[in-house]
Amino acid sequence: ERKTRAAAPLTPGQLADGTLVPLLANLGSADGAPAALEAGAEGVGLFRTEFLFLDAQSAPTVRDQQAQYTRLLQAFSGKKVVVRVLDAGADKPLAFLNDADEENPALGLRGIRALRSNETILREQLTALAAADAATDADLWVMAPMVANAEEARYFTDLAHELGIRMAGVMVEVPSAALLADRVLAATGFASIGTNDLTQYTMAADRLLGSVSRFQSPWHPAVLSLVGSVGAAGRDLGKPVGICGEAAADPLLAVVLVGLGATTLSMSPSALADVRASLARFTLDDAHAIAEAALAADGAAEAQAAAKSVAAGLT
Ligand code: PEP
Ligand code: MG
Repeated sequence: ERKTRAAAPLTPGQLADGTLVPLLANLGSADGAPAALEAGAEGVGLFRTEFLFLDAQSAPTVRDQQAQYTRLLQAFSGKKVVVRVLDAGADKPLAFLNDADEENPALGLRGIRALRSNETILREQLTALAAADAATDADLWVMAPMVANAEEARYFTDLAHELGIRMAGVMVEVPSAALLADRVLAATGFASIGTNDLTQYTMAADRLLGSVSRFQSPWHPAVLSLVGSVGAAGRDLGKPVGICGEAAADPLLAVVLVGLGATTLSMSPSALADVRASLARFTLDDAHAIAEAALAADGAAEAQAAAKSVAAGLT
């Protein structure tokens, strides 16, 4: 007979001074829910809905979508689940949403831009999400990708509320939205920073292109400075600011991001344990000091080295 060992209870994400930093999972399918929960995910910080429909030739029906979202929300009953509406275009084209022949699709009609020009698809997705929310008891938040300004933030937030979504927010992954974060956040409920695209667009370096991968570091002080602006705006306005790009999965960078004002971190479930352990080693004051050192550096490598050296002096 096989012995079943009771899983050790995982502590929630928190700093050494007790400051809570909820640790959430990035998922592309409800199939990943058990592993995420087992790794101690306190909810979902980024559910990439476009992954559900990469092979679809026509737009999914409201019914189909409602079934998928219900399955996800049921798996995270009682927990926060941040769902992103379709982020189609660039590296993730959807047959039913992207038909433009674009020479530079990363700068094209993607994310909220594509949805806005196909508003029926956006309305149907929000309708399906609201119905799934009503039928389950997870805490559903819904956000829009590639929002560039306050006007788009207001457009999405108003439409989401109109269709029954209670908590609507935006991703900050276009530098313009980070630069005017106070105005963008004033127009919506929360922000979640996508450091993958924010780095790509800040550094003007294609995230898929190996030849410019040396520019693709979220440690770059230019990227950190934008994260800090969003964090400050969130603090001023009392609005949550999460991180859902790969940067949150780097244990030391996670501390820096919290020092810059991030209130939650979302990552692939396999990164949760190391990030949880790293946060527990530092207080919020420590995180501020480590973040200041990184911000003051000249480049990405120097920022990482500076953060490491300040962190080593603190523990
Ligand atoms: C990001 O850009 O950081 C992000 C989380 O979204 P994606 O990687 O799906 O573009
Ligand atoms: Mg992105």
